Amino acid sequence: MKDVSPSLNVRVKAVRKTKNGIAIETASEYEMKKVLECKKMDELGLKVELPKKIGPKVIVYDVPNEMANETLLDELYSKNVKEYECERVFKERVRVVSRASKKGANVGNVIIEVNKRMKERMCDEGRVYINWYAFKVREFVSVLRCYKCYMFGHMMRECGVKERLCQQCGEPGHMRNACKNACVCRNCKMKGMNCDHSVMSVECPEYKRMLEREQMRISDE
Ligand SMILES: [Zn+2]
Ligand SMILES: [Zn+2]
Ligand SMILES: [Zn+2]
Repeated sequence: MKDVSPSLNVRVKAVRKTKNGIAIETASEYEMKKVLECKKMDELGLKVELPKKIGPKVIVYDVPNEMANETLLDELYSKNVKEYECERVFKERVRVVSRASKKGANVGNVIIEVNKRMKERMCDEGRVYINWYAFKVREFVSVLRCYKCYMFGHMMRECGVKERLCQQCGEPGHMRNACKNACVCRNCKMKGMNCDHSVMSVECPEYKRMLEREQMRISDE
């Protein structure tokens, strides 16, 4: 990499190791193109690719837990998508990302990754038809957040904090329902911004920024 850098003349913001190689973040899209077209990378046997975009997601509400994913997807295709999308594209792009239901409930919400066209059609309709049901469906955009410390970008099991923090004031030792302190958003406090709101607020500027970043990752195909 050291050999490549001077001749390339791009401003690199960050270099990270990833599962299959390294990720290079450049200061501009123009500079990203320069990296992509760099012949020297080829000569060194390095393959340069743009980060893969993720498909948009939808959330399907109150699906019976006993309904298998295969049934769900088969029905989703034949009753909802078949008229405008071919099966190959459906099979390539559509997958069940997660299923969750409350303790003791026999229905739960299903998050499904689709493509832009399917997302638009499903959300316009507001329903998907599966077997004898018409399930409510909405677009789903999520930000990775830890439910122990409420910071973005990691999950609970990767968290460095020992015990769960108070959702209201961000301090350890008590939970929100026993909190006598004012609201402090840990994410905004960390950035030195106004932090007198709940860390879980949908109006939190840091949350909004993360949401926007997530939306930018979503493929528009
Ligand atoms: Zn955490
Ligand atoms: Zn508290
Ligand atoms: Zn905030």
